[in-house]
Amino acid sequence: MNRVSVLKKISKKNREWDIVIIGGGATGLGCAVDAASRGYKTLLIEQVDFSKGTSSRSTKLVHGGVRYLQQGDISLVFEALKERGLMFKNAPHLVTNQSFIIPTYDFWGGPFYTVGLKVYDFMAGKLGLGPSMHLSREEAIEALPTVEKDGLTGGVIYHDGQFDDSRMAISLAQTAIDYGATVMNYCKVTGLIKKDELICGVNAVDQESNKEYSIKSKVVINATGVFADEIIQFDEPGKKDLITPSQGVHIVLDKSFLDNKNAIMVPHTSDGRVMFAVPWHNHVIVGTTDTLIENHSLEPIALEEEINFLLETSGQYLVKQPTRKDVLSIFAGLRPLAKPEDDGKATKEISRSHKILISIAGLITIIGGKWTTYRKMAEDTIEKAIMLGGLPERNCITQHLPIHGFRMDIDPVTDSMAAYGLDKEKIIAIGEDEPELAGFLSEKLHIYKSQVAWAVRKEMARTVEDVLARRTRALFLDARESLRIAPEVAKIMAKELGQDKDWEITQLKTYKEIAKNYYFDK
Ligand SMILES: Cc1cc2nc3c(=O)[nH]c(=O)nc-3n(C[C@H](O)[C@H](O)[C@H](O)COP(=O)(O)OP(=O)(O)OC[C@H]3O[C@@H](n4cnc5c(N)ncnc54)[C@H](O)[C@@H]3O)c2cc1C
Repeated sequence: MNRVSVLKKISKKNREWDIVIIGGGATGLGCAVDAASRGYKTLLIEQVDFSKGTSSRSTKLVHGGVRYLQQGDISLVFEALKERGLMFKNAPHLVTNQSFIIPTYDFWGGPFYTVGLKVYDFMAGKLGLGPSMHLSREEAIEALPTVEKDGLTGGVIYHDGQFDDSRMAISLAQTAIDYGATVMNYCKVTGLIKKDELICGVNAVDQESNKEYSIKSKVVINATGVFADEIIQFDEPGKKDLITPSQGVHIVLDKSFLDNKNAIMVPHTSDGRVMFAVPWHNHVIVGTTDTLIENHSLEPIALEEEINFLLETSGQYLVKQPTRKDVLSIFAGLRPLAKPEDDGKATKEISRSHKILISIAGLITIIGGKWTTYRKMAEDTIEKAIMLGGLPERNCITQHLPIHGFRMDIDPVTDSMAAYGLDKEKIIAIGEDEPELAGFLSEKLHIYKSQVAWAVRKEMARTVEDVLARRTRALFLDARESLRIAPEVAKIMAKELGQDKDWEITQLKTYKEIAKNYYFDK
């Protein structure tokens, strides 16, 4: 992951790639891993930073989707449960087995959800993460000591997976590189190159130097999530939009609100959705909402009513009622949902299945889907790319492909550096060998100074925000604490990147501007 050598590779005039992927979120990175591991010459181009879009803003669940089962989307649940199991096996340093409890406040809820979740277990087959069970009132209280006890009749416990989305994205980028792919952040695709009406490459601009590149490729994949329509416009100007962006908001609270290893799942909120309160990196994530949004952006902003809804709904299930002053971070993400045929459909009813479209000029666009199904989405997309580009046929090998850093002897729940997997000791060594990088950057969030240097040296971090939002999760866990440590991050990064004081000042100003939407200014 070295920017200088990547730029050298993409500037070679006569070079033709087999596959160029636009977009460095879950979908694009999954495609890069699949294509590179089949031996194709693969280039991925991301306009900002890996997972800056939706892929760092999920609820962090690796799940089959209990809600999709309720909606009768059986094939999606089967597919997602299989992928959940594979992700768990291929990335044990990033994915954990998370127990969820549905607290019930009436007498039919317990048996009703137990039966539904037994079906969920059955559908997972050998890749199941543990049996679902009915809990008595006493057992439910023991499992969730901070749950609202007034009227509680019992509960149901079931299992799904949990992960760190942006750390998974970095690990996918590293896996793709391990297999020979080239990946580039801060490089925006600004147009498509056509010959005889067929797409044969992309134009891209390095966002740091403003230098333009013409990149030739046998196949181009558009994996830009909510931005997919912009790329389609380069190919088919005036085409009707395919994406309906739906916003989901999360709030992050101190762990005392759910001081337990179990998560809460509310199967039916007042707006007919599911809501989760999940322990994550020593905090609690509460989410989410489903709000139709007209305009997409890289920094979507949570609406007041979405935040109030989460505070109120979670308050109904917790002994300690969260208020605005308890919110440590707020983050919003946009689901790249495929527009339904029927325009009147509510966003919560739109299927989360993915769709692959191929234009007359040969642009492959992949939309919809979930983080959990990124591998299958990539497999399906690369199958199409092989056909379209006349590439030599090679089988997909990602079902049993260990993700970069793979190791079994590490626990993502108790070890704050588990996500680095086999690289963990190398980061600890930096702190031991270089005294100015020794010790904590934030003891509160368990972030070490050496992680900043590592992010620049080995993970292509270019800005203070890359480090605080995605290489570490400071911004998403505690926005104020992230602002406190930002000057030190800027200082370490400036030294690593050979930048001056002015760079540090500009970086801090930009970071403050972004971070202000992640917390309430008291
Ligand atoms: C609130 C919320 C909660 C969710 N929770 C879960 C969950 O718990 N579990 C789960 O499985 N799924 C979840 N999802 C779904 C999942 O997060 C998304 O399906 C997935 O992240 C989408 O990834 P993507 O790569 O398609 O899009 P993105 O992550 O948005 O990536 C697209 C990338 O393309 C880049 N790009 C755009 N234009 C250009 C250009 N011109 N040149 C170069 N690059 C470009 C963007 O910068 C962006 O990084 C959730 C989604 C939301 C919104």
